Amino acid sequence: MTFATLGLAPEVQKAVAEQGYENPTAIQSQAIPVILTGQDVLGAAQTGTGKTAAFTLPILTKIIRHASTSVSPARHPIRVLILAPTRELVDQVYDNVATYSKYTGLRSHVVYGGVDLKAQIPALRAGVEVLVATPGRLLDHIGQKNINLSQVEILVLDEADRMLDMGFILDIREIFKLCTNRKQTLLFSATFAPEIVKLSNEFMNNPVKIEVARQNSANESVKQELHPVETGRKRALLAHLIRVHDMGQVIVFCRTKIGAEQVSRELKRAGFNCEAIHGDRDQKARTEALNKFKAGETKVLVATDVAARGLDVTDLPFVVNFELPTNPEDYVHRIGRTGRAGATGIAISLVAPEEDKAYNGIKALLKRDLPLIPVPGFSPGTIQIVDERESSRERFASDRGERGAGRAARGERDRFGRRDSQVRDAHVRDGGMRDSAPAGERMPSRAARDAMDIPAFPSDLPKLPKRGPQIAALFLPKRTAPPQA
Ligand code: AMP
Repeated sequence: MTFATLGLAPEVQKAVAEQGYENPTAIQSQAIPVILTGQDVLGAAQTGTGKTAAFTLPILTKIIRHASTSVSPARHPIRVLILAPTRELVDQVYDNVATYSKYTGLRSHVVYGGVDLKAQIPALRAGVEVLVATPGRLLDHIGQKNINLSQVEILVLDEADRMLDMGFILDIREIFKLCTNRKQTLLFSATFAPEIVKLSNEFMNNPVKIEVARQNSANESVKQELHPVETGRKRALLAHLIRVHDMGQVIVFCRTKIGAEQVSRELKRAGFNCEAIHGDRDQKARTEALNKFKAGETKVLVATDVAARGLDVTDLPFVVNFELPTNPEDYVHRIGRTGRAGATGIAISLVAPEEDKAYNGIKALLKRDLPLIPVPGFSPGTIQIVDERESSRERFASDRGERGAGRAARGERDRFGRRDSQVRDAHVRDGGMRDSAPAGERMPSRAARDAMDIPAFPSDLPKLPKRGPQIAALFLPKRTAPPQA
């Protein structure tokens, strides 16, 4: 199939040809004809599939008849409203709209939060046919009567699941209601959670469902490497891996804004050329960071899922999951940033013990085992603790004199240099002898015991986690034998 056979306006086709696209992608060849007929579409497609062009090209074709050279704002009401969850996505969609509408004479504009609201007003008042917006800021403008949605014919919700995750549901419902002349609705979402289905049942008219294969669910060109490591050592391991792999460019995904900021700061301190994008950074900083990364000036981009979701940053040789995402599908999105177009990419994940749920979720989604391979020097320990626990119990029993009769008879001392009777005395006196020193005897301080990594009491031993056997075994701390007294 070619773009010429899809029924797009010649002005739109011309812009597409300039982009050098030879053939429509799967989502484009499926969605474009349906959208052109005016039907509602419920689309499951992710970034990288050509999804944005899949809705932008037919939309522009449909509204090209409204293009006008008039300077009167009344001749330029909003005909198409595209909602997206983040400012970056709005910008990205807008870039597509601007590119493909180049020869159409249609006007387009963006609104999103985090920047001066007033600065957005003049362009809105002048009138635009296509508006790309985040829901919150859009409603702010509506409240101030800078925007009127009554002429909107086509409403698009991009990354709808993410918008709901971000708590935009009420805003979205309100926006739906304000588009009183809406004729067509297009909703794109990575998942069809019950809320999305509910929304579509309520506001959409018998939508055509279009799904393109989930990207990378079986992309063998992405090599997945997972390393077990304790949380406190992740930053050191990350720096180590960036160095040993000689990563040209890498996106490092963090779960939280605070985490992303901390990791980025640490990497900068360690001398890496690094930037962060997350919701706590202002728009200007985010855009700059992204542009510098795209231009290759920045080597490491630390990002949260929300900030990075849908961003057209692909073809990276490396992606690092500093933390596993809670939602297993985000793992697929994240690692999909690498291994494109036949090139092999490496997706590295640093997995801490408390991430077992996310880890198991990802394995279940991918339906494959993902072995955790320790990095020398960063290994969180081995299964040795199981034996150690037993021997510690024995030691404890011995300390309490249950097994110490022979030793006592021989006048031997325990591992802290205590005679058996002294241990018993202290045990009784201290109601369990935690941190207690037998009278007149030297007992290693708690700090010293910690330094030696010796648990004084069985209760100090790490609890054996009720986790998947593989991950649990790997995370049991390695204990060294106490020095003999
Ligand atoms: P999207 O899924 O919309 O984020 O698009 C991902 C990337 O694919 C963007 O950089 C587009 O410019 C590019 N793209 C879109 N359609 C095509 C096509 N038919 N052929 C080649 N590249 C495309």
